[in-house]
Amino acid sequence: RSAAPLTAQLSSTTQIALAPRVCRRNLNQDVRITRTGKPLLTVSGGRSSIGGYTATVFGATGFLGRYIVNRLARSGCTVVIPYRDDMAKRYLKVTGDLGRIVFLEMDLRNTASIEESVRHSDIVYNLIGRDYPTKNFDYDDVHVEGTARIAEAVAKYDIDRFVQVSSHSARLDSPSEYYRTKAQGEKIAREIYPETTIVRPAPMFGFEDRLLNKLAVITNVLTSNWMQQRFWPVHVIDVGMALEHMVHDDTTAGETFEFYGPTEYSMAEISELVDKEIIKHRRHINVPKRIMQPAAKYLNKYLWWPTISADEVEREFLDQVFDPNAKSLRDLGIEPVELKSMAYEYLKGYRSSQYSDLPPMTERERREEKKYLHVID
Ligand code: NDP
Repeated sequence: RSAAPLTAQLSSTTQIALAPRVCRRNLNQDVRITRTGKPLLTVSGGRSSIGGYTATVFGATGFLGRYIVNRLARSGCTVVIPYRDDMAKRYLKVTGDLGRIVFLEMDLRNTASIEESVRHSDIVYNLIGRDYPTKNFDYDDVHVEGTARIAEAVAKYDIDRFVQVSSHSARLDSPSEYYRTKAQGEKIAREIYPETTIVRPAPMFGFEDRLLNKLAVITNVLTSNWMQQRFWPVHVIDVGMALEHMVHDDTTAGETFEFYGPTEYSMAEISELVDKEIIKHRRHINVPKRIMQPAAKYLNKYLWWPTISADEVEREFLDQVFDPNAKSLRDLGIEPVELKSMAYEYLKGYRSSQYSDLPPMTERERREEKKYLHVID
């Protein structure tokens, strides 16, 4: 008999009969299942696709929320959005197709409402956080107790995945209460639900951010540290993409991720960039910490709109710190976007109405690097 491989010696009919069996064996090896035995679903039909996961996003009404809700909804997921303010959540309805976005009223101190929000889900994201304490919720209430209640509900209903959004520089020994409570929140989430994925974003920039917009909107910039704090700003869309990636990649369970941009900036450098893009020079006033901190505490306590808090003054004196064991955006195959490349897009609305850009440059003009600024009057 010839030494040809066995499959080559079989008649073509026998080969066809064998084929499905081979396929099925390969398929069985490739089927990815979640911890609780559900198949990992990846649907690619765009906005109207059906059949993905059910995901709960706490804190979806904030800045980052819309960037993850939209991405989940258009990949066939049903998104449950626990909310507190009727008006704050309205725009999220249209981020997904009809029936994809489900709203549930929730209170962070009402355990039943939290359990109701998570119990039908396959993945839960906790984006709840506050930059400043309010009269009803201090940092501890939001970052530690709130996280504990959500993690307990996740553990109780044996939800497949839990993603806790913390903050860059979250350290148990940080002088800032915000960073300290964020670290305590991470710890408690991992104690209750050990497979919690922890995400620590750097300061994020985007259309609704509190970085570029905050600088652009004011004419007098009040700081205490001469804007010397240094950090690596990250694009909010990159963070949204990474959070969506986690639904489809179970290897991210139990991991810690730090999301940061490609370049380090000081606040003064960003402020200079903002001035350049909005074609305006804003005044910078440095007030010593010993005066600014008590004043900020007073303002935060007695004014009912967000101004500045004592802890935000403290954070001005802290540079971003990194965890050498944490993974980054690049581990998820995402190349972080540079702040400078997007600053014009996000800030052009702050330019005086006297300025407007000419249509895009022609190839020749671009080669000769001609830069026009059109002045109307
Ligand atoms: P936002 O401040 O824009 O949104 C916070 C969300 O948390 C909102 O949906 C808010 O609900 C909700 N929330 C706050 N307090 C409570 C409470 N007591 N009860 C119920 N809900 C509450 O945050 P971002 O979207 O900017 O950030 C998302 C997460 O990332 C936060 O945890 C934040 O700390 C963290 N982070 C953000 C950075 C940034 O640059 N933006 C940098 C590092 C970390 P409501 O709309 O009802 O007020």
